[in-house]
Amino acid sequence: MQEIYDCVVVGGGPSGMMAAGQVAKSGASVLLVEKNSELGKKLSITGGGRCNITNAELDTKKLLENYGEAKKFLYSPFSKFDVKSTFSFFEKQGLPLVVEARKRAFPKSQKATDVTKTLINFIKKHGVEVLLNTQIKNIEKSSDDIFYLESNKSGIIKSRTVVFAVGGPSGKTLSKEIPSSWRILKKLGHTLSAPSPNLVPLATKAKFVHRLSGLSMSFVALRFKVDGKTQFKKLGKVLFTHFGVSGPTVINSSKQALDILKRTGKLTLSIDFFPDTEFDKLDRRLLALMEKHRTKKFRNTLSELLPEELAKTIIFIVNKDLMEKRSADISREDRRAVVHKMKDFHFNIVGSMGLDWAIVADGGVKLEEVDFKTMESRLVPGLYLTGDVLNINRPSGGFSLQLCWTTGYVAAKAIISKLKTKLNSK
Ligand SMILES: Cc1cc2nc3c(=O)[nH]c(=O)nc-3n(C[C@H](O)[C@H](O)[C@H](O)COP(=O)(O)OP(=O)(O)OC[C@H]3O[C@@H](n4cnc5c(N)ncnc54)[C@H](O)[C@@H]3O)c2cc1C
Repeated sequence: MQEIYDCVVVGGGPSGMMAAGQVAKSGASVLLVEKNSELGKKLSITGGGRCNITNAELDTKKLLENYGEAKKFLYSPFSKFDVKSTFSFFEKQGLPLVVEARKRAFPKSQKATDVTKTLINFIKKHGVEVLLNTQIKNIEKSSDDIFYLESNKSGIIKSRTVVFAVGGPSGKTLSKEIPSSWRILKKLGHTLSAPSPNLVPLATKAKFVHRLSGLSMSFVALRFKVDGKTQFKKLGKVLFTHFGVSGPTVINSSKQALDILKRTGKLTLSIDFFPDTEFDKLDRRLLALMEKHRTKKFRNTLSELLPEELAKTIIFIVNKDLMEKRSADISREDRRAVVHKMKDFHFNIVGSMGLDWAIVADGGVKLEEVDFKTMESRLVPGLYLTGDVLNINRPSGGFSLQLCWTTGYVAAKAIISKLKTKLNSK
């Protein structure tokens, strides 16, 4: 351990590792402190284990449209490290990326753990010291401009600058202790808005939805309704789970949907499994199949249009007596009711799955309290804030990790220049 480090990074997630490696590359002494027994624990499970590392929207102006009101703060950092910089950074470290649907970029190896390994190699190559299983409990700054970081295991650690990269409160089981780290910032004078789930799966009490758990439909229309009136509509994928619905389209609709639920106290989700086919055309398709398979059970005929479980569920909801009937014995009225259900499969939404299931949560440091040219706190000079600790809304699709790469890099460059100024003034 050094007596005084040039920089201590608190938190070994993506933004912390990016910042630590970049500062150390300049020859400065850097210590990375992580409370878990491994670095990048959350990073290693991102993107369903594949890590959606960035979004390949190379036009920064268009990219920043995804960050809502925060975009005005982000022009400056993204002018220093944009999506192209992310591609070249990882390629230089020996991790080529590939771009998939909706511009989502992944490591070519399709392994999130390779992203973590790449960052660990990057920080090791440049000589970052790492302290695992160590939690920073408090930070104070002395009058001689030195930060005193109180740790649970290694006593007081001293540093000239600090990167505070402790992440946000999202992610099942990984989130539990984050708010206590946020309290350190509060004590230093920062304003933190309370966390609330932002990108999160939605919950329903409808048992028939729970029973479809595991089923995914890749092209549906989702209509979010109040008292039968559509509030907004999205086209995309739906994944049924044991508590409700998930998948990228649902998750990206969750904030708007939950706002409506909060405001009105009610919300219905109506799913159209055939958004490209008019009611009458779909009815004719089903009728043609029923005539072709007159002696087949109706539920087996319907399974030619929909996954078996879903076909059975729809018939059960419409009229469970149809379950064992042959196609030839189904009335026009029942058939049309089934078609109607295929285009309006609805149930009430009762809320979200809460913070534990959130991929991204709102909340964090008020953006006005950070100088985005440097990522330095406007209240505590020498303290830098990166990644999820910042209160920035964004959809899924690689936008969160891109924020980590950009803010980590920008903080590091500013720290290097601050350290140079300090050395020159001595
Ligand atoms: C399931 C899931 C999937 C996701 N998939 C994607 C995806 O594919 N693409 C995408 O862009 N985003 C994704 N995200 C979001 C992304 O993971 C986060 O935006 C990102 O990890 C934030 O990085 P960070 O460096 O700010 O913080 P974190 O990754 O949260 O890391 C912070 C670290 O700080 C440590 N720490 C906290 N407090 C202390 C303390 N006091 N002392 C020492 N250490 C401390 C923590 O243990 C943690 O390791 C996903 C999130 C989840 C939960």
